[in-house]
Amino acid sequence: MPPDQRTDSSPRICHDPLSGRPVFVAPQRGGKPNDRELVVSGDGVTDHPSVWCPFCVGNESRTPPDIVRAPADMAAPWQSRIVTNGYPITTDRPPLDLSESGWAGSDRYAHGTHDVVIESPRHDRSILAVAPEAWRDVWTICQRRFVMLAEQPGLAWATVFKNSGPRAGASLEHVHSQLIGVDIVPPALHTELATLEVQRDPFGRLLAEARAAGRIIATADDLVALVPPAPRQPFETWIVVAEPERHFHAASAARVMAIADLTRDIVGRLERLVPGCDYNWWLHQAPFDRSINTPGRAAAWHWHLEILPRLTELAGFELGTGCHITTMTAEDAAHRLRDAAVETGFDVCVSPARGWQKSRRRGEDAV
Ligand SMILES: [Zn+2]
Repeated sequence: MPPDQRTDSSPRICHDPLSGRPVFVAPQRGGKPNDRELVVSGDGVTDHPSVWCPFCVGNESRTPPDIVRAPADMAAPWQSRIVTNGYPITTDRPPLDLSESGWAGSDRYAHGTHDVVIESPRHDRSILAVAPEAWRDVWTICQRRFVMLAEQPGLAWATVFKNSGPRAGASLEHVHSQLIGVDIVPPALHTELATLEVQRDPFGRLLAEARAAGRIIATADDLVALVPPAPRQPFETWIVVAEPERHFHAASAARVMAIADLTRDIVGRLERLVPGCDYNWWLHQAPFDRSINTPGRAAAWHWHLEILPRLTELAGFELGTGCHITTMTAEDAAHRLRDAAVETGFDVCVSPARGWQKSRRRGEDAV
């Protein structure tokens, strides 16, 4: 007997009948906290974040227990940790088919995992405020979590993504990411996988054309940071592994250090060009091998991180057509990003005490 869809708040996936677009319906997520509410519910706006922020050290009781942490030695103070998201878009319930429940639009439970990666014990607002070694540890614990998810039955794909700043959808300013494992291969991945079926080596071509067009910004180990040929926003940057490698969790330790260093590098350049720049990033790795019928087609995959500054809003044209408009050419963006190299270290770029609203307005003026 299917559950009553009006009272069952378990996350589920519904599909648009015309486009097939999946929508995660997570009613309980509407109760997730944001900074404004947390401050107001404290003793007033002068309260220190350590009083109200669930991610600050000392407030561990407000989050679920650690799944992975750095350092692993529990006797040492934590520097970063991964916990279950208190307001998940997924459930550990099996993907029960709900389509016979009589409630139109209800497909099935959204089976999967939804974690938060808390990237600093302090109330840092930018990854640039996290020490370089501690930032490398963040990527290392993400890799350890992906190893766990790759072995978990029932999951098809996993990603880590960051919403940095309110324009990018962040509700809490304390530096963090989200790590999700789901039992579907999302449309964006399907589209990229389909390209592998019709082109012999699209990633090799992407890299070769970026070199030829002067769109490479920086490299580290076997990773290349480049401006893609059709950026959706000014300064969109991808970090692409230069050789075929399907999964981030299979990457060498040196490569994990390199992605940490390159993300700091690129965000440092963005901060220099557009102080207080809000941005998203997300990892595109191949689906887990057991989840696709023809794993061979993913053999030529190069996992990559897409970094999307949020300088202009997604408006009617973008939402209605799936197309984007940008005002800066890829080559111009690459030229500016290369020139924005931070020569004296990352600390010069960001003051942790800086108010992000004020900086964001400065950023708008700069573009
Ligand atoms: Zn905090």
